[in-house]
Amino acid sequence: MSEPLVVMDGVNKWFGDLHVLQDIDLNVDRREVVVVIGPSGSGKSTLCRTINRLEPIDQGRILIDGEPLPAEGKELARLRADVGMVFQSFNLFAHKSILQNVTLGPVKVRGKSKQEAEARAMELLERVGIANQADKMPAQLSGGQQQRVAIARALAMDPKVMLFDEPTSALDPEMISEVLDVMLELASEGTTMVVVTHEMGFARSAARRVVFMDGGRIVEENTPEAFFNDPQTARAQDFLSKIL
Ligand code: ADP
Ligand code: MG
Repeated sequence: MSEPLVVMDGVNKWFGDLHVLQDIDLNVDRREVVVVIGPSGSGKSTLCRTINRLEPIDQGRILIDGEPLPAEGKELARLRADVGMVFQSFNLFAHKSILQNVTLGPVKVRGKSKQEAEARAMELLERVGIANQADKMPAQLSGGQQQRVAIARALAMDPKVMLFDEPTSALDPEMISEVLDVMLELASEGTTMVVVTHEMGFARSAARRVVFMDGGRIVEENTPEAFFNDPQTARAQDFLSKIL
């Protein structure tokens, strides 16, 4: 058995008086897809953000491929790029073309040549079905298209793990499936993924494990079948009764 790709070990974090992450122990294996669900305010986004050190933690440790992310500097930029992140709001660079959005990081952080970065970017844009829009600006694309560009941009850094924080929550309903389809494909190719989502269909078909959070804690953790068919805690039962 190789060691897990992501190790969270006794992680605690406070925002002032709010104990937002409480004794989080969570490992993600290579090629594993973990779906994180839970009510609003339960700490899901904060958990994601600690994994790539957008948020510091107060206690415990987080290892990516055996290493902690350094606190700052060039090394942080390099190692943080090992953790790709896709947010609810697509966060593309508004004044750069789609192609530039995807090539900027690999050139700046990975030291790729422009040519090499562009060739790879076009491959990735092809993969998410946007290659014919490469010269457009983000505002010219639909929300679903922009989110697929955001996925391509994250993949362009050759991350070891991809984090998705409610990637379809800001999309019009008809655009949700085009983004979920790309994510399902990544999952089936063996991409290591942590996905915060309310899309239970995705969880059922892509997750190996569902992690249920409430009040800053991991309350329950199980296979999707077991979790959805037979949740063990009252809090999970209550949550599922409201969303299913
Ligand atoms: P979720 O993603 O599950 O909805 P979050 O991780 O966004 O939950 O938030 C968990 C709790 O932490 C919420 O009560 C939220 O208001 C609070 N919180 C999030 N970010 C900050 C911050 N930067 N400063 C203070 N409180 C925060
Ligand atoms: Mg959130």
